[in-house]
Amino acid sequence: DVIPVQRALISVSDKTGLVELANALAAAGVEIISTGSTAATIRAAGHDVTDVSAVTGFPESLDGRVKTLHPSVHAGILADLRLEAHENQLADLSIAPFQLVVVNLYPFVETVESGAEPADVIEQIDIGGPALVRASAKNHANVAIAVDPEDYPEIIAAVAAGGSTLRLRQKLASLAFEHTANYDLSVSAWFTENVYDQWQDDTEALGEEILDAFDAIVGAEDPEADALFPATLAIEATRATVLRYGENSHQAAALYLGEGGQGIAQAVQLHGKEMSYNNYVDADAAVRAAFDFAEPAVAIIKHANPCGIAVANPKAPDAIASAHHRAHDCDPVSAFGGVIAANRVVTLGMAETVSQIFTEVLVAPGFEPAAFELLSAKKNIRLLELPADYRRSSLELRQISGGLLVQETDTFDALDTSEWRLVSGPEVDAATRADLEFAWKACRAVKSNAILLAHAGASVGVGMGQVNRVDSCHLAVSRAGERAEGAVAASDAFFPFADGLEVLLEAGVSAVVQPGGSVRDEEVIAAATAAGVSMYFTGERHFFH
Ligand code: 5GP
Repeated sequence: DVIPVQRALISVSDKTGLVELANALAAAGVEIISTGSTAATIRAAGHDVTDVSAVTGFPESLDGRVKTLHPSVHAGILADLRLEAHENQLADLSIAPFQLVVVNLYPFVETVESGAEPADVIEQIDIGGPALVRASAKNHANVAIAVDPEDYPEIIAAVAAGGSTLRLRQKLASLAFEHTANYDLSVSAWFTENVYDQWQDDTEALGEEILDAFDAIVGAEDPEADALFPATLAIEATRATVLRYGENSHQAAALYLGEGGQGIAQAVQLHGKEMSYNNYVDADAAVRAAFDFAEPAVAIIKHANPCGIAVANPKAPDAIASAHHRAHDCDPVSAFGGVIAANRVVTLGMAETVSQIFTEVLVAPGFEPAAFELLSAKKNIRLLELPADYRRSSLELRQISGGLLVQETDTFDALDTSEWRLVSGPEVDAATRADLEFAWKACRAVKSNAILLAHAGASVGVGMGQVNRVDSCHLAVSRAGERAEGAVAASDAFFPFADGLEVLLEAGVSAVVQPGGSVRDEEVIAAATAAGVSMYFTGERHFFH
């Protein structure tokens, strides 16, 4: 297993001990092939050297990026001459094998330590060198590889003694792989520290810029506005989180925490990926829809609109699971990928159902340990904790181009049904009355024009966001299907004509609640009366745009 050295490839950045090595190889009659400045050094010491470009038939090019990366070099290193086939192929290709490769790599670490510019550091990432080292080390059955001048004396001794032993080649191969591994570690550490940190800095700088711009808006102080809304001005935002992006990926965004209220922005995230801008909007809508009910209630939101709202069946042993079940049943197709709010601690029963439905966010006052364990096993769901009695903001703010609208929050603290007025049909029974009150409350969370059909404390069909009330009625009725028959209906604002109501009456609704107040109320009341359907006017509307 002793392999005599006849042909050596030398390509070194660190020229320490190079001349002594060349002297010994030349004395032993070894043919030396070399690159650039290595060849020049050996030649200057008075020895014959073959330039690698003469072997490859290709000039050393691209500022030294491509010198030894060539089949004529690598086949000469990688051929396993224990195999006749390899020997024959080399002969066919007129490639001579190497028995010794001496390489040390571009001084990457030293360049980094010198404080060089990134472009110069990158230029010092050796490509051809590690390829030579790894190829030689892999083929240590045939080739000896030296990566460190400290190993030269042993090489020189071996050459003089007639060749390298397998044991020596194995030891050198092992050192060689250690050397390239450490080299790549240094490169990757530099990338982590410099390139990645640079991105972080860019992101933070971008964040700072956004925040400065946003701060300029929310920090604007107007004495008149302060007088109108002293201290309670929720936009006195204190702290911000830069969000990954806004409603769309090309929009920068941040979250500001208002001082006046305690809503979804201050919910505690217990599990899951970072909340997105849209997650916040939908979670806020979900809380608005579910948390104002005194009974255990669940709302499922898609694109800021409820696709299901329900309170628990009073007889159900697991109340919140029952509410969720019924909210989900309203529109299971739309509930996929929804944002859920529950106004009671999430039970294992509810968690078991939710875990089977792709859900973006679940916000609740708490989670039973078993429920949390089950849900947190899912990577994609975000779990948020918000107390059921969280402090509601007294103000709602909305930006319009060039300004800001501020209004009092549309709360339900003052839901007082004593003002309700029966305008058609007979007084309803207690169960229907409860459904009307549920529908009226639930309808408030639906974007105008809103029509909500409900039965037994659960929405069964929601028509939202249409530009006329007739379309919202059609939508609610079609979503409800057979469930419209005998359901109650709520409308967030008055019916301007009888046409919308007629859609509901045809579908078989049993009772209706709406604000009233249209100039055509008579017409609308007449339609309800003709159908024998009870209708209540609340005298108060709940637009939600
Ligand atoms: P030279 O003697 O050619 O001036 O420089 C030797 C250095 O070039 C050694 O550190 C060796 O690892 C490196 N080297 C050898 N071949 C190649 C190649 O094809 N590409 C690159 N980037 N470096 C190489």
